[in-house]
Amino acid sequence: MQPKYKRILLKLSGESLAGSKSHGIDFDKVLEICRPIKQCADMGVQIGIVVGGGNFWRGRSSGKMDRTRADHMGMLATTINALGVADALEQLGVQVRVQTAIEMRQIAEPYIRNRAVRHMEKGRVVVFGCGTGNPFFSTDTAAALRAAEIDADIVLKATMVDGVYDSDPKTNPNAVKFDSLSFLDVLNRGLQVMDSTAASLCMDNHIPILVFSIDRPENIVKAVCGEPIGTIVKV
Ligand code: UDP
Repeated sequence: MQPKYKRILLKLSGESLAGSKSHGIDFDKVLEICRPIKQCADMGVQIGIVVGGGNFWRGRSSGKMDRTRADHMGMLATTINALGVADALEQLGVQVRVQTAIEMRQIAEPYIRNRAVRHMEKGRVVVFGCGTGNPFFSTDTAAALRAAEIDADIVLKATMVDGVYDSDPKTNPNAVKFDSLSFLDVLNRGLQVMDSTAASLCMDNHIPILVFSIDRPENIVKAVCGEPIGTIVKV
């Protein structure tokens, strides 16, 4: 198989790293997800990864807490995941750098765009922690932002569902999956692909998003090679 994209931004949800557990990290699952990532790196694809934190904490679900503080906790959660993914990739022999949007110099590099691009050009996978570094944002928005900054060809959003549906497939057995959508469709119909901030950022910067299931981690390779999986959202 030949890669279709030269540089990708892969968004991994926190949930995907929890595997069959409802919470935390299932390291075997992380290794399983990292194997196809290594395959893509071996094919010469330049890879940036934004990781979510929902397997530990989500600011918006924090109830009575101050939202900004709750989001700070969420960003720390994404960094725990970033370190887990980096470790799994390293165990598989991949060169990795972790960069965080909030400085934690003892454990990771600070996010520096040019340095991130240089790492990717040298074949290193860059894992971005702390989302955008700002509260009230999501890691989907961080994925869109980093994709724009590093000039990624596409955002690959690996999730728990196999694409975008016209209604929730968990509750509606007749829900219809889209193969392709425009950003305007997504925004106007309020489809749950990504939050609207992330979708508009990708739309404005002409970066397509492919939403696909991480249930089979090998889908990452299929997505990179342009096989028809999931739902593609384009301008
Ligand atoms: N978060 C944030 N700013 C960002 C990205 C993330 O404050 O730019 C916080 C926010 O609290 C969020 C949590 O980190 O709920 C985890 O990220 P997200 O919910 O996007 O993770 P996912 O659902 O993808 O696992």
